[in-house]
Amino acid sequence: MTTRALYTPEEILAATGGTARGTLADVTGISIDTRTLEPGDAFFAITGENSDGHAYVAKALENGASLAVVAADRVQGLPDGPLVVVPDVLGALTDLGKAARARSEARIVAVTGSVGKTTTKEALRIALSADGETHASAASYNNHWGVPLSLARFPRSARYGVFEVGMNHPGEITPLVRMVRPHVAVITTVEAVHIAQFSGIEEIADAKAEIFDGLEPGGTAVLNRDNPLFDRLVASARAKGVKNIVSFGADPACEVRLKDVVLHPACSTVVADVLGTPVTFKLGMPGRHIVQNALAVLAAVRLLGGDLALAAVALARLRPPPGRGVPVSLSVSGGTATLLDESYNANPASMRAAIDVLSRTPVGPRGRRIAVLGDMLELGTEGAQHHRELAEALEAGKIDRVFCAGPLMHALWEVLPSSRKGGYAVHASHLEPLISAAIRAGDTLMVKGSNGSRMGPLVKALAERF
Ligand code: ATP
Ligand code: MG
Repeated sequence: MTTRALYTPEEILAATGGTARGTLADVTGISIDTRTLEPGDAFFAITGENSDGHAYVAKALENGASLAVVAADRVQGLPDGPLVVVPDVLGALTDLGKAARARSEARIVAVTGSVGKTTTKEALRIALSADGETHASAASYNNHWGVPLSLARFPRSARYGVFEVGMNHPGEITPLVRMVRPHVAVITTVEAVHIAQFSGIEEIADAKAEIFDGLEPGGTAVLNRDNPLFDRLVASARAKGVKNIVSFGADPACEVRLKDVVLHPACSTVVADVLGTPVTFKLGMPGRHIVQNALAVLAAVRLLGGDLALAAVALARLRPPPGRGVPVSLSVSGGTATLLDESYNANPASMRAAIDVLSRTPVGPRGRRIAVLGDMLELGTEGAQHHRELAEALEAGKIDRVFCAGPLMHALWEVLPSSRKGGYAVHASHLEPLISAAIRAGDTLMVKGSNGSRMGPLVKALAERF
Protein backbone atom coordinates (compact mmCIF):
# COMPACT_ATOMS: atom_id res chain seq x y z
CA MET A 1 0.00 0.00 0.00
CA THR A 2 1.34 3.43 -0.81
CA THR A 3 0.92 6.21 1.67
CA ARG A 4 1.43 9.92 1.28
CA ALA A 5 2.08 10.48 4.97
CA LEU A 6 5.60 11.33 6.05
CA TYR A 7 5.23 8.58 8.68
CA THR A 8 2.55 6.21 9.79
CA PRO A 9 2.11 5.85 13.58
CA GLU A 10 3.75 2.42 13.31
CA GLU A 11 6.80 3.94 11.65
CA ILE A 12 7.10 6.61 14.35
CA LEU A 13 6.90 3.97 17.10
CA ALA A 14 9.36 1.65 15.37
CA ALA A 15 11.91 4.41 14.74
CA THR A 16 11.73 6.01 18.19
CA GLY A 17 11.08 2.88 20.26
CA GLY A 18 8.37 4.90 22.01
CA THR A 19 5.13 3.86 23.68
CA ALA A 20 1.81 5.15 22.35
CA ARG A 21 -0.81 6.82 24.56
CA GLY A 22 -4.15 7.47 22.92
CA THR A 23 -4.84 7.05 19.23
CA LEU A 24 -2.09 8.18 16.90
CA ALA A 25 -2.76 9.51 13.39
CA ASP A 26 -0.55 9.71 10.30
CA VAL A 27 2.21 12.27 10.55
CA THR A 28 2.56 14.78 7.69
CA GLY A 29 5.39 16.95 9.08
CA ILE A 30 7.73 17.43 12.03
CA SER A 31 7.68 20.43 14.39
CA ILE A 32 9.58 21.54 17.47
CA ASP A 33 7.87 24.95 17.70
CA THR A 34 4.14 25.52 18.14
CA ARG A 35 4.41 28.96 16.49
CA THR A 36 5.14 27.33 13.13
CA LEU A 37 3.37 24.01 13.69
CA GLU A 38 1.10 22.81 10.88
CA PRO A 39 -1.88 20.52 11.46
CA GLY A 40 -0.72 16.91 11.04
CA ASP A 41 2.79 17.60 12.34
CA ALA A 42 4.31 15.41 15.03
CA PHE A 43 5.42 17.77 17.80
CA PHE A 44 8.71 16.89 19.49
CA ALA A 45 8.92 18.44 22.98
CA ILE A 46 12.59 19.35 22.82
CA THR A 47 14.15 20.79 25.94
CA GLY A 48 16.55 23.61 25.12
CA GLU A 49 18.55 26.08 27.19
CA ASN A 50 15.73 28.59 27.37
CA SER A 51 12.57 26.63 26.89
CA ASP A 52 11.00 23.29 27.58
CA GLY A 53 8.84 21.87 24.80
CA HIS A 54 6.72 19.99 27.35
CA ALA A 55 5.14 23.31 28.31
CA TYR A 56 3.75 23.53 24.75
CA VAL A 57 2.41 20.01 24.27
CA ALA A 58 -1.21 20.97 25.04
CA LYS A 59 -0.97 23.91 22.63
CA ALA A 60 0.55 21.71 19.92
CA LEU A 61 -2.29 19.20 20.18
CA GLU A 62 -4.88 21.99 20.23
CA ASN A 63 -3.32 23.36 17.04
CA GLY A 64 -3.76 20.05 15.26
CA ALA A 65 -0.55 18.12 15.92
CA SER A 66 -1.06 14.47 14.99
CA LEU A 67 0.84 13.46 18.13
CA ALA A 68 3.43 14.77 20.58
CA VAL A 69 6.67 13.00 21.44
CA VAL A 70 7.42 13.52 25.13
CA ALA A 71 9.88 12.36 27.79
CA ALA A 72 8.77 9.57 30.15
CA ASP A 73 9.71 11.60 33.23
CA ARG A 74 7.68 14.60 32.05
CA VAL A 75 4.34 12.93 31.25
CA GLN A 76 2.61 14.00 34.44
CA GLY A 77 0.19 16.83 33.84
CA LEU A 78 0.27 16.47 30.06
CA PRO A 79 -2.87 15.71 28.01
CA ASP A 80 -3.71 11.97 27.86
CA GLY A 81 -2.86 11.71 24.21
CA PRO A 82 -2.09 11.27 21.44
CA LEU A 83 1.43 10.94 22.85
CA VAL A 84 4.53 8.93 22.07
CA VAL A 85 6.50 8.47 25.27
CA VAL A 86 10.26 8.08 24.96
CA PRO A 87 13.22 8.22 27.36
CA ASP A 88 14.76 11.23 25.59
CA VAL A 89 13.02 13.47 23.05
CA LEU A 90 16.11 14.70 21.19
CA GLY A 91 17.32 11.09 21.02
CA ALA A 92 13.95 10.12 19.50
CA LEU A 93 14.18 12.90 16.92
CA THR A 94 17.70 11.74 16.07
CA ASP A 95 16.49 8.15 15.70
CA LEU A 96 13.68 9.31 13.44
CA GLY A 97 16.16 11.30 11.34
CA LYS A 98 18.32 8.20 10.97
CA ALA A 99 15.28 6.15 9.96
CA ALA A 100 14.34 8.73 7.33
CA ARG A 101 17.86 8.58 5.97
CA ALA A 102 17.85 4.79 5.97
CA ARG A 103 14.67 4.52 3.92
CA SER A 104 15.63 7.26 1.46
CA GLU A 105 16.81 6.52 -2.04
CA ALA A 106 17.71 10.15 -2.65
CA ARG A 107 21.10 11.45 -3.72
CA ILE A 108 22.40 13.56 -0.90
CA VAL A 109 24.77 16.51 -0.49
CA ALA A 110 26.01 17.93 2.82
CA VAL A 111 27.32 21.49 2.96
CA THR A 112 29.68 22.89 5.56
CA GLY A 113 32.18 25.77 5.60
CA SER A 114 32.99 28.90 7.57
CA VAL A 115 30.64 31.06 5.50
CA GLY A 116 28.23 30.45 2.65
CA LYS A 117 26.56 27.27 3.91
CA THR A 118 23.01 28.60 3.77
CA THR A 119 23.52 30.49 0.53
CA THR A 120 24.99 27.37 -1.08
CA LYS A 121 22.25 25.16 0.37
CA GLU A 122 19.55 27.47 -1.02
CA ALA A 123 21.28 27.53 -4.42
CA LEU A 124 21.40 23.71 -4.36
CA ARG A 125 17.72 23.59 -3.46
CA ILE A 126 16.86 25.72 -6.48
CA ALA A 127 19.29 23.97 -8.82
CA LEU A 128 18.28 20.42 -7.92
CA SER A 129 14.55 21.20 -7.74
CA ALA A 130 14.71 21.97 -11.45
CA ASP A 131 15.47 18.28 -11.96
CA GLY A 132 13.46 16.44 -9.31
CA GLU A 133 11.85 16.62 -5.88
CA THR A 134 14.39 18.15 -3.52
CA HIS A 135 14.35 18.35 0.26
CA ALA A 136 16.67 20.87 1.93
CA SER A 137 17.25 21.93 5.53
CA ALA A 138 15.26 24.97 6.63
CA ALA A 139 17.03 28.22 7.60
CA SER A 140 20.43 27.45 9.18
CA TYR A 141 19.27 24.27 10.90
CA ASN A 142 22.75 22.81 11.03
CA ASN A 143 23.44 21.69 14.63
CA HIS A 144 22.67 18.84 17.06
CA TRP A 145 18.93 19.44 16.76
CA GLY A 146 18.81 21.15 13.34
CA VAL A 147 20.33 18.25 11.44
CA PRO A 148 18.11 15.53 12.99
CA LEU A 149 15.06 17.75 12.47
CA SER A 150 15.95 18.34 8.82
CA LEU A 151 16.54 14.63 8.28
CA ALA A 152 13.32 13.66 10.04
CA ARG A 153 11.46 15.91 7.58
CA PHE A 154 12.97 14.06 4.59
CA PRO A 155 10.02 12.93 2.41
CA ARG A 156 10.33 9.34 1.24
CA SER A 157 9.69 10.46 -2.34
CA ALA A 158 12.54 13.03 -2.51
CA ARG A 159 15.10 12.49 -5.25
CA TYR A 160 17.64 14.86 -3.77
CA GLY A 161 18.53 15.87 -0.22
CA VAL A 162 20.51 18.98 0.76
CA PHE A 163 21.68 19.32 4.36
CA GLU A 164 23.57 22.17 6.04
CA VAL A 165 26.03 21.01 8.69
CA GLY A 166 27.68 23.51 11.05
CA MET A 167 29.92 23.64 14.06
CA ASN A 168 31.26 25.88 16.81
CA HIS A 169 33.88 23.48 18.13
CA PRO A 170 35.88 20.42 17.09
CA GLY A 171 34.03 17.10 17.18
CA GLU A 172 30.62 18.56 16.38
CA ILE A 173 30.40 17.70 12.68
CA THR A 174 31.38 14.03 12.86
CA PRO A 175 28.18 12.70 14.51
CA LEU A 176 26.01 15.01 12.39
CA VAL A 177 27.45 13.95 9.05
CA ARG A 178 27.31 10.29 10.09
CA MET A 179 23.55 10.78 10.31
CA VAL A 180 23.34 12.50 6.92
CA ARG A 181 25.63 10.05 5.08
CA PRO A 182 26.01 12.25 1.99
CA HIS A 183 27.17 11.16 -1.44
CA VAL A 184 28.78 14.55 -1.91
CA ALA A 185 30.36 16.71 0.83
CA VAL A 186 30.96 20.40 0.07
CA ILE A 187 33.24 22.67 2.09
CA THR A 188 32.50 26.19 0.85
CA THR A 189 35.54 27.87 2.40
CA VAL A 190 37.63 28.02 5.58
CA GLU A 191 37.88 31.41 7.28
CA ALA A 192 38.57 32.94 10.68
CA VAL A 193 35.02 32.55 11.96
CA HIS A 194 34.44 31.65 15.65
CA ILE A 195 38.25 31.76 15.76
CA ALA A 196 38.10 32.52 19.49
CA GLN A 197 37.10 28.85 20.03
CA PHE A 198 40.09 27.49 18.07
CA SER A 199 43.88 27.47 18.30
CA GLY A 200 44.08 28.77 14.74
CA ILE A 201 42.72 28.52 11.21
CA GLU A 202 44.30 25.07 10.75
CA GLU A 203 42.22 23.73 13.59
CA ILE A 204 39.12 25.21 11.93
CA ALA A 205 40.05 23.44 8.68
CA ASP A 206 40.46 20.14 10.54
CA ALA A 207 37.07 20.57 12.18
CA LYS A 208 35.45 21.20 8.77
CA ALA A 209 37.23 18.11 7.44
CA GLU A 210 35.10 16.04 9.84
CA ILE A 211 32.50 16.24 7.05
CA PHE A 212 34.45 13.44 5.34
CA ASP A 213 33.74 11.13 8.29
CA GLY A 214 30.20 10.52 7.07
CA LEU A 215 30.75 10.42 3.34
CA GLU A 216 29.19 7.35 1.70
CA PRO A 217 31.66 4.84 0.24
CA GLY A 218 32.66 6.12 -3.21
CA GLY A 219 31.47 9.62 -2.32
CA THR A 220 33.10 12.83 -3.43
CA ALA A 221 34.56 15.79 -1.56
CA VAL A 222 34.02 19.16 -3.26
CA LEU A 223 36.67 21.65 -2.14
CA ASN A 224 37.59 25.28 -2.76
CA ARG A 225 41.00 25.34 -4.43
CA ASP A 226 41.28 29.11 -4.13
CA ASN A 227 41.25 28.83 -0.34
CA PRO A 228 44.67 28.72 1.37
CA LEU A 229 43.58 25.70 3.42
CA PHE A 230 42.83 23.61 0.31
CA ASP A 231 45.94 21.42 0.56
CA ARG A 232 45.26 20.72 4.21
CA LEU A 233 41.66 19.69 3.43
CA VAL A 234 42.83 17.42 0.61
CA ALA A 235 45.31 15.76 2.96
CA SER A 236 42.56 15.25 5.57
CA ALA A 237 40.22 13.80 2.96
CA ARG A 238 42.87 11.36 1.73
CA ALA A 239 43.77 10.37 5.30
CA LYS A 240 40.09 9.59 5.88
CA GLY A 241 39.97 7.34 2.82
CA VAL A 242 38.20 9.72 0.43
CA LYS A 243 39.24 8.80 -3.10
CA ASN A 244 37.26 11.32 -5.13
CA ILE A 245 38.08 14.99 -4.76
CA VAL A 246 36.72 17.68 -7.05
CA SER A 247 38.03 21.22 -6.69
CA PHE A 248 36.28 24.43 -7.66
CA GLY A 249 37.53 27.99 -8.10
CA ALA A 250 39.42 30.23 -10.47
CA ASP A 251 42.67 28.26 -10.25
CA PRO A 252 43.42 26.66 -13.66
CA ALA A 253 43.84 23.25 -12.00
CA CYS A 254 40.19 23.19 -10.84
CA GLU A 255 37.89 20.50 -12.19
CA VAL A 256 35.09 23.02 -11.86
CA ARG A 257 36.67 26.19 -13.06
CA LEU A 258 35.62 29.79 -13.37
CA LYS A 259 36.50 30.91 -16.88
CA ASP A 260 34.87 34.30 -17.04
CA VAL A 261 32.66 36.43 -14.85
CA VAL A 262 30.96 39.80 -15.05
CA LEU A 263 29.89 41.12 -11.67
CA HIS A 264 26.75 43.25 -12.01
CA PRO A 265 25.21 45.20 -9.10
CA ALA A 266 22.41 42.68 -8.48
CA CYS A 267 23.55 39.55 -10.33
CA SER A 268 26.50 38.00 -12.15
CA THR A 269 27.03 36.35 -15.52
CA VAL A 270 29.36 33.42 -15.31
CA VAL A 271 31.18 31.13 -17.71
CA ALA A 272 32.47 27.95 -16.12
CA ASP A 273 33.83 24.57 -17.03
CA VAL A 274 32.09 21.93 -14.95
CA LEU A 275 34.02 18.67 -15.16
CA GLY A 276 34.52 19.15 -18.88
CA THR A 277 31.13 20.64 -19.68
CA PRO A 278 31.04 24.34 -20.58
CA VAL A 279 28.26 26.19 -18.76
CA THR A 280 27.21 29.83 -19.12
CA PHE A 281 24.70 31.09 -16.64
CA LYS A 282 23.19 34.04 -14.85
CA LEU A 283 23.35 34.04 -11.06
CA GLY A 284 20.55 35.93 -9.34
CA MET A 285 22.65 37.25 -6.43
CA PRO A 286 25.58 39.65 -6.68
CA GLY A 287 29.16 39.16 -5.51
CA ARG A 288 32.24 37.17 -6.37
CA HIS A 289 31.74 35.09 -3.21
CA ILE A 290 28.35 33.92 -4.48
CA VAL A 291 29.95 32.96 -7.81
CA GLN A 292 32.37 30.84 -5.81
CA ASN A 293 29.46 29.14 -4.04
CA ALA A 294 27.70 28.59 -7.38
CA LEU A 295 30.71 26.67 -8.71
CA ALA A 296 30.41 24.31 -5.74
CA VAL A 297 26.69 23.98 -6.46
CA LEU A 298 27.22 23.00 -10.10
CA ALA A 299 29.94 20.55 -9.08
CA ALA A 300 27.54 18.89 -6.64
CA VAL A 301 24.66 18.84 -9.13
CA ARG A 302 26.85 17.08 -11.67
CA LEU A 303 28.23 14.61 -9.12
CA LEU A 304 24.75 13.76 -7.87
CA GLY A 305 23.64 13.00 -11.41
CA GLY A 306 21.41 16.06 -11.71
CA ASP A 307 20.75 17.99 -14.91
CA LEU A 308 23.49 20.57 -15.23
CA ALA A 309 21.74 22.63 -17.90
CA LEU A 310 18.51 22.92 -15.89
CA ALA A 311 20.48 23.75 -12.76
CA ALA A 312 22.40 26.50 -14.50
CA VAL A 313 19.20 28.11 -15.75
CA ALA A 314 17.61 27.83 -12.30
CA LEU A 315 20.44 29.75 -10.62
CA ALA A 316 19.09 32.95 -12.17
CA ARG A 317 16.26 32.60 -9.64
CA LEU A 318 18.57 32.63 -6.60
CA ARG A 319 17.73 35.46 -4.21
CA PRO A 320 19.41 36.58 -0.97
CA PRO A 321 18.18 34.70 2.11
CA PRO A 322 16.85 37.04 4.84
CA GLY A 323 19.51 39.37 6.23
CA ARG A 324 22.10 38.44 3.59
CA GLY A 325 21.81 41.33 1.18
CA VAL A 326 18.04 41.67 0.73
CA PRO A 327 17.42 45.10 -0.85
CA VAL A 328 14.93 47.34 0.97
CA SER A 329 13.62 50.51 -0.68
CA LEU A 330 13.49 53.60 1.57
CA SER A 331 11.32 56.61 0.67
CA VAL A 332 13.38 59.66 1.48
CA SER A 333 12.88 63.29 0.65
CA GLY A 334 13.14 63.75 -3.12
CA GLY A 335 13.18 60.06 -4.07
CA THR A 336 14.35 56.68 -2.82
CA ALA A 337 17.43 55.23 -1.21
CA THR A 338 18.30 51.52 -1.10
CA LEU A 339 19.23 49.61 2.01
CA LEU A 340 21.03 46.28 1.61
CA ASP A 341 20.05 44.29 4.68
CA GLU A 342 23.12 42.26 5.66
CA SER A 343 22.20 42.21 9.34
CA TYR A 344 22.05 38.42 9.71
CA ASN A 345 25.71 38.09 10.65
CA ALA A 346 29.27 39.23 9.97
CA ASN A 347 32.85 38.07 10.07
CA PRO A 348 35.90 39.41 8.22
CA ALA A 349 35.26 37.27 5.11
CA SER A 350 31.58 38.09 4.70
CA MET A 351 32.17 41.75 5.63
CA ARG A 352 34.69 42.12 2.81
CA ALA A 353 32.33 40.35 0.41
CA ALA A 354 29.49 42.72 1.30
CA ILE A 355 31.74 45.80 0.98
CA ASP A 356 32.77 44.57 -2.45
CA VAL A 357 29.14 44.25 -3.52
CA LEU A 358 28.39 47.74 -2.18
CA SER A 359 31.34 49.14 -4.12
CA ARG A 360 29.76 47.88 -7.36
CA THR A 361 26.38 49.44 -6.68
CA PRO A 362 25.64 52.31 -9.02
CA VAL A 363 24.42 55.45 -7.26
CA GLY A 364 22.62 58.50 -8.64
CA PRO A 365 24.37 61.83 -9.28
CA ARG A 366 24.01 62.92 -5.65
CA GLY A 367 23.85 59.42 -4.23
CA ARG A 368 26.56 57.82 -2.12
CA ARG A 369 27.68 54.36 -1.07
CA ILE A 370 27.28 54.13 2.68
CA ALA A 371 28.48 51.30 4.93
CA VAL A 372 26.83 50.90 8.33
CA LEU A 373 28.96 48.42 10.23
CA GLY A 374 28.47 46.71 13.58
CA ASP A 375 30.92 44.62 15.57
CA MET A 376 32.12 41.28 14.26
CA LEU A 377 32.08 39.03 17.33
CA GLU A 378 33.93 35.88 18.42
CA LEU A 379 37.25 36.95 16.90
CA GLY A 380 39.21 36.56 20.14
CA THR A 381 42.28 38.63 20.92
CA GLU A 382 42.68 39.71 17.28
CA GLY A 383 39.23 41.30 17.26
CA ALA A 384 40.23 44.96 17.12
CA GLN A 385 42.80 44.26 14.41
CA HIS A 386 40.25 42.52 12.17
CA HIS A 387 38.04 45.60 12.47
CA ARG A 388 40.85 48.04 11.76
CA GLU A 389 41.85 46.12 8.65
CA LEU A 390 38.48 46.79 7.02
CA ALA A 391 39.66 50.36 6.33
CA GLU A 392 41.59 49.11 3.33
CA ALA A 393 38.57 47.38 1.77
CA LEU A 394 36.43 50.48 2.36
CA GLU A 395 39.10 52.64 0.72
CA ALA A 396 39.52 50.27 -2.24
CA GLY A 397 35.74 50.09 -2.68
CA LYS A 398 35.46 53.89 -2.63
CA ILE A 399 32.81 53.75 0.07
CA ASP A 400 31.74 57.37 0.59
CA ARG A 401 30.52 57.26 4.19
CA VAL A 402 31.01 54.80 7.03
CA PHE A 403 28.89 54.58 10.16
CA CYS A 404 30.25 52.36 12.93
CA ALA A 405 28.54 50.80 15.96
CA GLY A 406 30.06 48.86 18.85
CA PRO A 407 33.21 48.82 20.96
CA LEU A 408 35.23 46.79 18.44
CA MET A 409 34.21 48.97 15.52
CA HIS A 410 35.82 51.85 17.36
CA ALA A 411 39.17 50.45 16.21
CA LEU A 412 38.04 50.97 12.59
CA TRP A 413 36.48 54.34 13.32
CA GLU A 414 39.79 55.64 14.67
CA VAL A 415 41.68 54.91 11.46
CA LEU A 416 39.05 56.08 8.95
CA PRO A 417 39.88 59.28 7.08
CA SER A 418 37.63 62.08 8.31
CA SER A 419 36.17 62.51 4.80
CA ARG A 420 34.58 59.03 5.11
CA LYS A 421 33.39 59.32 8.69
CA GLY A 422 29.60 59.27 8.94
CA GLY A 423 29.06 58.66 12.65
CA TYR A 424 29.94 56.40 15.56
CA ALA A 425 27.88 55.01 18.44
CA VAL A 426 28.54 52.30 21.01
CA HIS A 427 25.01 50.91 20.54
CA ALA A 428 23.62 50.32 17.05
CA SER A 429 20.27 51.84 18.01
CA HIS A 430 21.98 55.20 18.63
CA LEU A 431 23.07 55.34 15.00
CA GLU A 432 19.51 55.61 13.77
CA PRO A 433 19.11 59.40 14.17
CA LEU A 434 22.57 60.03 12.69
CA ILE A 435 21.83 57.92 9.62
CA SER A 436 18.32 59.36 9.26
CA ALA A 437 19.75 62.87 9.19
CA ALA A 438 22.40 61.95 6.63
CA ILE A 439 20.49 59.78 4.16
CA ARG A 440 19.38 61.23 0.84
CA ALA A 441 17.81 60.15 -2.44
CA GLY A 442 20.07 57.97 -4.57
CA ASP A 443 22.10 56.61 -1.63
CA THR A 444 22.78 52.91 -1.12
CA LEU A 445 23.36 51.77 2.46
CA MET A 446 24.74 48.39 3.38
CA VAL A 447 24.05 47.44 7.00
CA LYS A 448 26.04 44.54 8.44
CA GLY A 449 27.26 43.21 11.77
CA SER A 450 27.28 40.08 13.90
CA ASN A 451 23.89 39.01 15.14
CA GLY A 452 24.80 40.11 18.67
CA SER A 453 25.63 43.62 17.53
CA ARG A 454 21.93 44.33 16.93
CA MET A 455 22.03 45.62 13.36
CA GLY A 456 18.74 43.81 12.64
CA PRO A 457 16.69 46.14 14.88
CA LEU A 458 18.49 49.11 13.28
CA VAL A 459 17.43 47.93 9.80
CA LYS A 460 13.88 47.53 11.09
CA ALA A 461 13.87 51.01 12.59
CA LEU A 462 15.14 52.59 9.35
CA ALA A 463 12.65 50.62 7.23
CA GLU A 464 9.81 51.79 9.49
CA ARG A 465 10.95 55.38 9.51
CA PHE A 466 11.32 55.66 5.72
P1 ATP B 1 25.88 30.35 9.59
O1 ATP B 1 27.12 29.71 10.16
O2 ATP B 1 25.46 31.55 10.36
O3 ATP B 1 24.77 29.39 9.34
P2 ATP B 1 26.43 30.26 6.76
O4 ATP B 1 27.72 29.54 6.62
O5 ATP B 1 25.19 29.50 6.51
O6 ATP B 1 26.35 31.00 8.16
P3 ATP B 1 25.45 32.24 4.88
O7 ATP B 1 24.29 32.50 5.73
O8 ATP B 1 25.24 31.60 3.56
O9 ATP B 1 26.57 31.47 5.70
O10 ATP B 1 26.22 33.60 4.63
C1 ATP B 1 26.70 34.35 5.72
C2 ATP B 1 27.38 35.59 5.21
O11 ATP B 1 28.53 35.23 4.44
C3 ATP B 1 26.53 36.43 4.28
O12 ATP B 1 26.85 37.76 4.53
C4 ATP B 1 26.97 35.99 2.90
O13 ATP B 1 26.78 37.00 1.94
C5 ATP B 1 28.44 35.74 3.11
N1 ATP B 1 29.00 34.71 2.22
C6 ATP B 1 28.36 33.72 1.59
N2 ATP B 1 29.21 32.94 0.90
C7 ATP B 1 30.44 33.46 1.09
C8 ATP B 1 31.74 33.13 0.63
N3 ATP B 1 31.95 32.08 -0.17
N4 ATP B 1 32.78 33.93 1.02
C9 ATP B 1 32.58 34.98 1.83
N5 ATP B 1 31.38 35.36 2.29
C10 ATP B 1 30.31 34.61 1.94
MG1 MG C 1 23.68 29.04 7.77
